[in-house]
Amino acid sequence: MTLPIYMDGHATTRVDPRVVAAMVPFFGEHYGNAASRHHQFGWAARDAVVESRSAVARLIGATSREVVFTSGATESNNLALKGVMDASRAHGNHIVTACTEHRAILDPCARLEQQGVAVSYLPVRGDGLLDPNTLASALTPATVLVSVMSANNEIGVLQPIVDLARVARSGGALFHTDAAQAAGKVQIDVARDGIDLLSLTAHKLYGPKGIGALFVRRGLTLTPLVDGGGHELGLRSGTLNVPAIVGFGHAAGLCLAEMGEEAVRMTRLRDRLWQGLRGSLTGVSVNGSMTARLPHSLNVTVDGVNGEQLLIGLDDVAVSSGAACSSSRREPSHVLQALGLPEAAAQASIRFGLGRFNTETDIDYVIEKLRSLVTRLRAPVQVFQLEDDDPELPPAWGE
Ligand SMILES: *Cc1c(COP(=O)(O)O)cnc(C)c1O
Repeated sequence: MTLPIYMDGHATTRVDPRVVAAMVPFFGEHYGNAASRHHQFGWAARDAVVESRSAVARLIGATSREVVFTSGATESNNLALKGVMDASRAHGNHIVTACTEHRAILDPCARLEQQGVAVSYLPVRGDGLLDPNTLASALTPATVLVSVMSANNEIGVLQPIVDLARVARSGGALFHTDAAQAAGKVQIDVARDGIDLLSLTAHKLYGPKGIGALFVRRGLTLTPLVDGGGHELGLRSGTLNVPAIVGFGHAAGLCLAEMGEEAVRMTRLRDRLWQGLRGSLTGVSVNGSMTARLPHSLNVTVDGVNGEQLLIGLDDVAVSSGAACSSSRREPSHVLQALGLPEAAAQASIRFGLGRFNTETDIDYVIEKLRSLVTRLRAPVQVFQLEDDDPELPPAWGE
């Protein structure tokens, strides 16, 4: 075991060494522009992009021509929301989303609101899930787009996207899902699941940062955010980042091949962590549904401790807390608050994001670390008092 231990897999993941190896030749050897049509350098780059696009498409059950490479899930979400709303002005001006979405959904929605789009932010149940009936009653004839994340980045719950997509579509709206946390971890099939647009990003699935994709169902029209050379079917211009795309494709292929086995191992480690915490501490509880949940994800609240001291005490374990660090103040998480947690409880929450490179030894270390830390934090303030028969006292004491 090497310290510090990384358990912040919702924030980002280590690039798998096999992915790094696949990327390296595309810096020094195959450095061509994938749009160069008249020489081998361009062809080598283009062939690699074709292969990666197909690997990403396979991961989500799409076809290659439905995959648009972007800089990541933030850009994909922006393209989906702004692109659809701009192209659909004639049909309506209403978006429906959930209040527990990532900032990369909530902020583009806020921008669209400034531009006259109406946005409904639906509440979730105590377990973090959006009830399809709640969605059904929020739809109006003006609703163009419903956007609900596949898996939550703070509490790891899996939304019932198949049901939500069915409700959205039967109400005449398109369905978009931010699958940044779910892609590569749980099975996704855009065709089977009735999804029209889907965002994903490589760095959450053991690929490099700065590369992602938007799945756009064939036949849909969106207005691009970036105009230029007409790359990516005109939806996202700019020279393709070939090494990153190669890494994304390779990472997607590995996830698809190893997902079944990895999910079993992650579930086992995650459950070992939860059982260990529950067995050694009182006053710990899970946030969000324990069944509709990513295999590697756990978010717990620890009663009776200060959130800041908790994080400071976990000095050699990389996790996140229920406080989002904004400019100066530590704001309690909007997701935990939407579940009904009071501010202090939200602050005293820890998000564990296990991953491909964690072991049982890591889990056991973290359980013991938290047990001793929380015990210490909960102990009443010690008043130092010497007792006459204290064995630690030097023999001459008191004489
Ligand atoms: C990480 C994340 C994003 C942002 O992805 P980037 O590729 O870093 O832009 C968006 N949505 C969710 C749910 C995420 O977890």
